[in-house]
Amino acid sequence: MVLVEHELYHAAQETDAFGAPKFSKSTGRPIFTIRGHDVEEFVGVVRRYGADAAGVRAMVDAANQKPEIARVQIAHPCGTCQLRVA
Ligand SMILES: [Zn+2]
Repeated sequence: MVLVEHELYHAAQETDAFGAPKFSKSTGRPIFTIRGHDVEEFVGVVRRYGADAAGVRAMVDAANQKPEIARVQIAHPCGTCQLRVA
């Protein structure tokens, strides 16, 4: 489930030069694209220059929050994970 969610986060709607969502001129449907990860940085850079300078503030803030879905709730629907939890 975590892997599927990760891969779905790579899917996004294409945007134009102004950041507005793009739509197909022929069909009117959204134009999709693949987007990169939210964060790609070294721990050392964040340690030396801070989360804001490294552009990882949103990830740090998210990591400091309580998980929206607890680990035990992720494992229960998956038979393989459930064996590890038990
Ligand atoms: Zn990925």
